[in-house]
Amino acid sequence: MGHLAELGAAHVFVIGRLHVGMGESSTMSDPASATSLPLVFDEPRKAKKPPRHLADLTAAERKHAVERAGLPGFRASQVSHHYFSRLVDDPAEMTDLPADLRQPLAEALLPELITPMHTLTADGGTTRKTLWRLHDGALVESVLMRYPGRVTMCVSSQAGCGMACPFCATGQGGLQRNMSTAEIVEQVLAGARSLARDEVPGGGGRVSNVVFMGMGEPMANYTAVIDSVRRMTDPTPDGLGMSARGVTVSTVGLVPRMRQLADEGIPVTLALSLHAPDDELRNELVPINTRWSVHEAVAAAWNYARVTRRRVSIEYPMIKHINDQGWRADLLGEVLTSYGDWGWVHVNLIPLNPTPGSKWTASRREDEREFVRRLEAKGVPTTVRDTRGREIDGACGQLSATGA
Ligand code: SAH
Repeated sequence: MGHLAELGAAHVFVIGRLHVGMGESSTMSDPASATSLPLVFDEPRKAKKPPRHLADLTAAERKHAVERAGLPGFRASQVSHHYFSRLVDDPAEMTDLPADLRQPLAEALLPELITPMHTLTADGGTTRKTLWRLHDGALVESVLMRYPGRVTMCVSSQAGCGMACPFCATGQGGLQRNMSTAEIVEQVLAGARSLARDEVPGGGGRVSNVVFMGMGEPMANYTAVIDSVRRMTDPTPDGLGMSARGVTVSTVGLVPRMRQLADEGIPVTLALSLHAPDDELRNELVPINTRWSVHEAVAAAWNYARVTRRRVSIEYPMIKHINDQGWRADLLGEVLTSYGDWGWVHVNLIPLNPTPGSKWTASRREDEREFVRRLEAKGVPTTVRDTRGREIDGACGQLSATGA
């Protein structure tokens, strides 16, 4: 998953229902190759919605939900306090609530949405990947990564992914369904609880960063993703009280949604999975490029930076002899600087995590260094992402929910 080392990475995903300009058809064939997977924008009709949960609702909606269950509305904010501020979801621990109300309140607001199946650790326990089972049996993963001074949760936004990127493990299984707002938030809460229980070496602490680089395409599940960011950033006890600047939304480049996000008024960091500076190669690596080209995707990223004044990240997995040539570094630098050099962008190079059976491997160190040198010569700030969690398949593109 993304967890990409720092910005996770992960898989593919689907595009939930793109309402803006996605056209009528829900699948399209990929001209790049007759054998490649289709792009899928809509979840299957049979997908079962998870039960409604406190984290799906605004404060006002929670009050109504409690009243509809025949309980006093003000109890909703008490439960919110337990959930978001105290990180408690066991009714037995809500001792300020009358004993006979605890169970009905929990039933109305706190159904169990995600069940841990497995947790794998690496890096001395400071990287933890958890496989979760959702109510309908769908499997997703999240990764907690502790760094000096911050804790990042890499979360999934869909079960599976419909974007069909051929180098990404998640993409190979197609899209099962969109995750609900609360299913996304619960992954962050699980990380926060794990820190509070002192399960992560380094002592206590809070989740400071969230990256949508686990399974799924967040912009294909736009409404739930945006609502989950609001829950993360709403002040406690209505939400987790995180800074929006600590949240990174990574996308294959669903251009209408990138434009919508720019106008949303939430200053999250946007990451664009570019992966190639030319349409010919990007059509193959990121099949959505057949719908929105390199220039359309980069223009939408630039627009995001212009509107929000937030620097965007260009994600670029380094794939040996595929996208790592010096001329592609030069072309990438030219494409990005053609939009100006006012610090609107930086490039994150990600050593490819080969997925099982893949014909591709990570670039050689010398090619990586040369790529960085050429981008920096054009004035484009460039970093090479670390490979945190690689041995537990916690890194980019490894979240397939099958191998944990
Ligand atoms: N669907 C979104 C978010 C999940 S993927 C997106 O594509 O941006 C997060 C990042 O991990 C993307 O940049 C993706 O390309 C990258 N990634 C996927 N598989 C990878 C792999 N095997 N090695 C390296 N990075 C990978």
